[in-house]
Amino acid sequence: MLVSRENHPADSVIKVNNTTVGGGNLTIIAGPCSVESEEQILNIARAVKENGATMLRGGAFKPRTSPYSFQGLGKEALNYLSIAKKETGLPVITEITDVRELELFDDIDVIQIGARNMQNFALLKEVGKSSKPVLLKRGYSSTYEEFLYSAEYIMAEGNENIILCERGIRTFEHYTRNMVDIACVPVIKKMSHLPILVDASHGTGKHELVEPLSLAAVAAGADGVMVEVHDNPDEALSDGSQSQTVARYAAMTEKLRKLHEMMKEI
Ligand code: PEP
Ligand code: MN
Repeated sequence: MLVSRENHPADSVIKVNNTTVGGGNLTIIAGPCSVESEEQILNIARAVKENGATMLRGGAFKPRTSPYSFQGLGKEALNYLSIAKKETGLPVITEITDVRELELFDDIDVIQIGARNMQNFALLKEVGKSSKPVLLKRGYSSTYEEFLYSAEYIMAEGNENIILCERGIRTFEHYTRNMVDIACVPVIKKMSHLPILVDASHGTGKHELVEPLSLAAVAAGADGVMVEVHDNPDEALSDGSQSQTVARYAAMTEKLRKLHEMMKEI
């Protein structure tokens, strides 16, 4: 397997514009679940940039469970992400849900494949033909082996710029939306050379659990975190209950940075 540690013993380091994922760097991808307006994404982009984010997230095409839920602003949101990128200098990441969207992604720096599409093989092959970095989320019922085979689909087409992301799996527990699988981090590190992040927002569904689980991820050796941040979580059009306020996000980031430094010494 191209993605296996056996095939490539050294850690892969992925360059995304002016930032680097893997290789001992702490990646912090922050931003709202969905881009809701130009003003909203600009406000959040400025706030997360000021507080240590290395990349800006924001959904344009949303894979919602119900067809009646907010589906994202689509193309318009991509335009707002471009504006936020221009102003802050942060690279931007957004999810692709259909191969036909790829032609709209010229100014997007990282293409996200969401949990629901982890085994959408047509989509994996298509982003594999692109040279843009891809962030591949683990499906919520997928084994480590299936996760890595999906990354293999991308790499087999020639795209080596892959970042993995554990985002919680389904278990019998209903208190949390999903269960962050911290073991995924050291297991994937052993099996593969690709960097791996942890998304504790989707991984827990509860904003107050994002900080402890993100810290646990970094302690377990994750290359960074993805986190949903909103300037007004109560009014968010999607995933408000798992979104951190800017203040909570800022406090968490400081702890993550300290922990990441400490981890180098122990
Ligand atoms: C997201 O990051 O916006 C998202 C929908 O995540 P997931 O695919 O992990 O559910
Ligand atoms: Mn979300």
